[in-house]
Amino acid sequence: MSRVAYVNGLYLPHRRAAVHVEDRGYQFADGVYEVIAVKNGRFVDDTPHLERLDRSLRELEIAPPMSRAALRVVMAEMLRRNRIRDGILYIQMTRGVAARDHPFPADSDASVVMTARLEPPQDPRLGENGVDVISIPDIRWKRCDIKSVSLLPNILGKQAAHRAGAFEAWQINEEGFVTEGTSTNAWIVDAEGRLCTPPIDEQILSGITRRRILKLAKREGIDFSERYFTLKEAQSAREAFITSSTTLVLPVTTIDDAVIGNGKPGTFTCKLREHYLAFMAAPGGQG
Ligand code: PMP
Repeated sequence: MSRVAYVNGLYLPHRRAAVHVEDRGYQFADGVYEVIAVKNGRFVDDTPHLERLDRSLRELEIAPPMSRAALRVVMAEMLRRNRIRDGILYIQMTRGVAARDHPFPADSDASVVMTARLEPPQDPRLGENGVDVISIPDIRWKRCDIKSVSLLPNILGKQAAHRAGAFEAWQINEEGFVTEGTSTNAWIVDAEGRLCTPPIDEQILSGITRRRILKLAKREGIDFSERYFTLKEAQSAREAFITSSTTLVLPVTTIDDAVIGNGKPGTFTCKLREHYLAFMAAPGGQG
């Protein structure tokens, strides 16, 4: 079955789908994106993803190229045409095509690209064994709350992790605090047994999975605190884990050379992972 991509109003064979060489996304990374998981043919938490997309556009003063309703029609059509039951949908919007010049063009229309991809179910061993994390300096800009397609520091960080045989890299800011992973939010269970994740500010992306986990924790009566923690605190935490739309909830068992807890996925982590998997699969689980 051939894959289909959506590019500015057209459904095209994925192999031949392309944007103009002077698209500002291509020239300047002047654009934003979202990745939405699809489970059992339904989007997971699509409304908050679309709200975050709107916010990212607003922060960059890019006029939304289509209405929310029209966007949802194309999203559904992408799942249908690509026959996706379990996978991901990628949405990218840029400031559009214009002669290369730094200021905003006077009259460009924003570009929209969508791709969809089937994904095999996550390897359960990741959840059972946990993953290794390394630490790296956070060298990103000061607006990490915007989901910009400009991801060079994240890519370099992820590559450093993979080169070290690790799954993710936690970024450490100038004050020594963990901000987030290169494509995931960071969590620990601290010495008091409290679930902790950095607060929403301009140093991190407000993860949709992060929000969902906080809701699930609240529902389950699990005590949590949105606060910063240092690398040292994380390394001596009872538990650690990462979250994102594609990695879901994954236990972290080492950070650099420090073993977290007893080296096995923690109790809270496993509980929250189970709740998140149940949420994803539940028909009433759409936000
Ligand atoms: N932080 C960063 C830097 C990311 O790229 C992502 C993935 N989009 C996340 C956190 C997790 O966000 P979400 O739960 O919305 O996928």
